[in-house]
Amino acid sequence: MTTTFNFTGRTAIVTGGTRGIGAAITLALLKAGAAVHATYAGNEAAAAAFQAACAEFAGRLTLHRFDVGDYAAVEHFYKGIEAAGVKPDILVNNAGIRRDGVVGMLSRDDWQKVLDTNLGGTYAMSKFAVQLMMRNRSGRIISITSPSGKLGFEGQANYAAAKAGQVAFTRSLSKEVARRGITVNCVSPGFIETDFIADLPAETAAAYRAMVPMKRFGKAEEVASSVLFLASAEAAYITGATLEITGGL
Ligand code: NDP
Repeated sequence: MTTTFNFTGRTAIVTGGTRGIGAAITLALLKAGAAVHATYAGNEAAAAAFQAACAEFAGRLTLHRFDVGDYAAVEHFYKGIEAAGVKPDILVNNAGIRRDGVVGMLSRDDWQKVLDTNLGGTYAMSKFAVQLMMRNRSGRIISITSPSGKLGFEGQANYAAAKAGQVAFTRSLSKEVARRGITVNCVSPGFIETDFIADLPAETAAAYRAMVPMKRFGKAEEVASSVLFLASAEAAYITGATLEITGGL
């Protein structure tokens, strides 16, 4: 991707920033000059491979491993970066998981884990970011939601509820911090080629592709560019919004 954004001197936090869409966002921010704290849950091999691929930006990329659904771990992360003098300008709530199952068979664990990661993570990460951003009277919070939250998909009640919750959370938080120069928005990607949907059976993937007016799945870089736009100074008057990157879905 050729980027025209300039984030030199800015600091971003990208959750789930070492794989898939998050990795594309981290890389785009690094290319645009930002310093990035990219987090991940536990896939050390992917994190190490990503770090190696970003060697040219080594001084500006820091990785952190913790579960965004664990409130105490999130608090610990923020205490650490605050002690190190880091002032986040941008937070991207990208970490997310799916654990699909029809409601009649959906385990309590699969319900809770999806809510904790996608929605609980967005709450906890945003809470501490907002405290730091308010001191600077500026900031950008962008959460990655999904069309599932708007349309609903069979077998995704947990995921759809969490993703719709992120949008409602975003609208409310945007109103709380609007006067402080902090914008809060969502990006809603359609079907994007990452590990996240790699487990779909071939016929399901073909049916989903046929649903997309552009007749193709999107690329992680195509989501990243919209995140950079919302993070930029040019997007200063956009808040409480959801930008759809879906090929027309
Ligand atoms: P991937 O599965 O490729 O990557 C997910 C990333 O999130 C990984 O870095 C993973 O860490 C991290 N992560 C997962 N759980 C946690 C956790 N509990 N704590 C911290 N980090 C965690 O997913 P995508 O890149 O495809 O998806 C990114 C976001 O985009 C998600 O929120 C997803 O819901 C959303 N989305 C994706 C779509 C798609 O088609 N791909 C469509 C619409 C929305 P680790 O590497 O350690 O496992």
